[in-house]
Amino acid sequence: MTAWTEPAQGDPFGVHNLPLCATRDGWVGVRVGDLILNLGAAEEAGLLDAGGAFTRAATLNRFLAAGRPTWTRVRAQLTDLFTGPRPAGVFGGNAALLHPVDGTALALPFEVADYVDFYSSEHHANNLSRLFRPDSPSLLPNWKELPVGYHGRAGTVMVSGTDIPRPHGQRKTPDEERPSYGPSRRLDIEAELGFVVGAPSTGPIDVDDFREHVFGAVLVNDWSARDIQAWEYQPLGPFLGKSFATSISPWVVPLDALEPAKAAAPVQDPPVLDYLREAERYAYTIRFEVFWNGTLVAQPPYEGIYWTPAQQLAHLTANGAWARTGDLYASGTISGPTPEQTGSFIERTWNGAHPVRLDDGSTRSFLLDGDTVTISATAQCPGGPAEAAMVGFGEVRGTVVTRV
Ligand code: CA
Repeated sequence: MTAWTEPAQGDPFGVHNLPLCATRDGWVGVRVGDLILNLGAAEEAGLLDAGGAFTRAATLNRFLAAGRPTWTRVRAQLTDLFTGPRPAGVFGGNAALLHPVDGTALALPFEVADYVDFYSSEHHANNLSRLFRPDSPSLLPNWKELPVGYHGRAGTVMVSGTDIPRPHGQRKTPDEERPSYGPSRRLDIEAELGFVVGAPSTGPIDVDDFREHVFGAVLVNDWSARDIQAWEYQPLGPFLGKSFATSISPWVVPLDALEPAKAAAPVQDPPVLDYLREAERYAYTIRFEVFWNGTLVAQPPYEGIYWTPAQQLAHLTANGAWARTGDLYASGTISGPTPEQTGSFIERTWNGAHPVRLDDGSTRSFLLDGDTVTISATAQCPGGPAEAAMVGFGEVRGTVVTRV
C-alpha cells in the first residue's frame, strides 16, 4: 500500500502498522511513517468516526474501552484515509492534524489500571533458578502447569525517556549477618513484551477470547534491583526490588498489525489444564535488541515464549478477578538459549562472572549511574508483502540517575 503520508518502502511504521500514542500536549495520535495524525482533531474534522473516543482525549483509555468492533472499524477507516486521496487542508491550512514524530513529546499512552508481570520464558526461568537457587531443581513443579506471575505497581509505570533514580532498599549478601539500607548495588533490566487490555470483564476471560479483550502490545523494561529482590522475595515474591520503576514504549502496536507475525508457540509438556488449552496456539515472531550505552549487548527472541498472552490473560482472570481497561500484563523477561539472547544483565553477565565490554572500552556487570538502556523490537512478517515485512515497536529507553 502506498500513502500520501509517504512512508519509505519497508518502513516498519508503514500503513500496515498504525501504532497509537498520547502526547504531552494532551492529544492522542496514530503514527504513519515519520508523522503523527492527531486523532482527536481528525475525528472533529469528520475524517474518521471512533464514536467520540478520540475527541479531546488525553489518553487512549476511552478508545481501548470501546472494544474490538470499534478497533476494527477505526483501523479500516485509518487505512482508507492514509491510502486514499489526500484530504484537503490536512497539511498547511490545518496544521493541527499532522505532526512530525521528531519534535513531538510523547506521554504514557494510557492510564495504567493494574500491572501484572509473568515469568514465561523457559530459558529465563531456568537461568534465574540456577542463579538464585543453585541447589534446587531448575524449575519449580508449578512452572509448566500455570503461568507464574506477580502483581506489580501500576503507579510507577512510566513512558520511555523517563529517568530512573537508583532505588534504595534493604540489601544483604550471604556473608552479612544483617541487612543494610542504601542504594542498590545490582541494578538490572528485564526486556519484555507487554499487553494492553481494552475491553474489560467482570469474570474469567476464555483463553480463546484474547483478541476480544486485548488491543495491542508495548515494549516493557521491568527494572529490577537484584540485591533488594534476593533478600525480600521469599516467600511472597517480588516487591520493592521491582516496584520503583517500569518503563514502557510510547507506541501501542495493535494486535491487528501483528497478525502476519504470528508463530506457533512451543508444544507444552505436560499438556495444560482445559482452561489454558487454546484452539489456536501462537505467539509472535518479534526480535528484541538491548543496547547498553549504545552498545548492542543482546538480541532476545520473543517467539519461543512458553506461556502465550492468551494463556496469561485466561489465567490471571481464572479465579474470577476482573480485567479493567488499561490493565497491562507483561511476558516476563525474554531470553533465548544463548548468553547473547538473554533479556537481563544478571543472565547476560552470569551474575557478574562474565562482564560485557561496551564500545567505549569499559566493562559492565550491573548498571552504573548515568547508564542508558534502550530496548527496541521489530515484529517479522516474512509471509507478507515486502513493504509490510516488519512491524516496528520503536524503543523503550531509560537512564539511571543518582537519587538525590
Ligand atoms: Ca519481569
